[in-house]
Amino acid sequence: MITSEYVKEYARKMGADLVGISPMSRFEGAPKQMDARYIFPGAKSMIVVGFRIARGTLRGIEEGTLFSNYPSMGYAALNQVYGPMVLWNLTRMLEDEGHETIPMLNANGGEAVNSVTGKFRKGWSRPATDGKPYPDVLVHFRLAAYMAGLGEIGWSKIFLTPEFGPRQRFAILLTDADLEPDPIYEGKICDRCKLCVKHCMGKAISKDESIKVTVAGHEIEWGKLDELACEKGIQGGKNGELNPFDGDYPRQYGYGRAIEGACGCIRACMVHLEERKKIKNLFHNKFRDKPQWTIDRSKPYELSQEVVDFYEKNGMIEDFDEYIKYNERDNYGTGKNKEVINPLID
Ligand code: SF4
Ligand code: SF4
Repeated sequence: MITSEYVKEYARKMGADLVGISPMSRFEGAPKQMDARYIFPGAKSMIVVGFRIARGTLRGIEEGTLFSNYPSMGYAALNQVYGPMVLWNLTRMLEDEGHETIPMLNANGGEAVNSVTGKFRKGWSRPATDGKPYPDVLVHFRLAAYMAGLGEIGWSKIFLTPEFGPRQRFAILLTDADLEPDPIYEGKICDRCKLCVKHCMGKAISKDESIKVTVAGHEIEWGKLDELACEKGIQGGKNGELNPFDGDYPRQYGYGRAIEGACGCIRACMVHLEERKKIKNLFHNKFRDKPQWTIDRSKPYELSQEVVDFYEKNGMIEDFDEYIKYNERDNYGTGKNKEVINPLID
């Protein structure tokens, strides 16, 4: 019979940084639309795996010099490349042991409950039979991680673990293997410093208002989050304080707009937890040695003397529009400039 120890050891060998196991019974009391037992009624266990967001993926944004690394390596690659590879390998192992397993990456789109706003999408879908939830069921990955004993939800609504603080992403497996569960995490990582609130560019996290939910018999609380304000904030704030680009930042990797680098809910929180040595993954050097920069947009756009000397004087200046056209040309004929031939396919 397969054991939790074996599953955890295997998951780590396959590349997971964190592994926790919850019995499906911990979904008891969850709203029907968010109850994973409807997805796999025969499931006995939910395995939650976590992957660290490397601190270095935030460095370019911290310095204000490279904005694509966090959205790609710190976001899309974990959710859409690395995580699914680990899920596949765990699923193969569990299937070889005779256990049906659903590998669930952190991606959504079809849910009857909007995963950003939490609101029910009227007119979106119909229950397959009477009594079932409206498809797709939305599994709340942070609550799943809580159920699997991996840590707690901080005031910022970001999941905090004793290993990495706010720096991880999760994936889930639902399986009919009956595995020994982990206890709910009883420690305290978040000290309600509210630095996440202070440094959030979207002003999305309330300082005083909170949300309370009961999960697996435990009441948990976090700061009320304005998800739509966060949607603006992740793009650098309402006034572009943390967005040095004058046009839309290219949305490669699906997460390309996350150029604020989670200034409050990840970076400020991480700096604080590292300083207080509240997490295990500490570094030889401090992450931050100067205050966060902000762009002064009252100043007109101008070329620096170095750019004038090197590029302008050598006739090497192009328009912002040229770059957009170039991107669209490489968009496999799906961009606006379809008349431009893509050398890879034409
Ligand atoms: S910044 Fe402070 S209040 Fe916010 S989640 Fe982190 S520890 Fe909690
Ligand atoms: S991602 Fe940015 S805007 Fe959204 S809550 Fe975190 S700090 Fe605020």
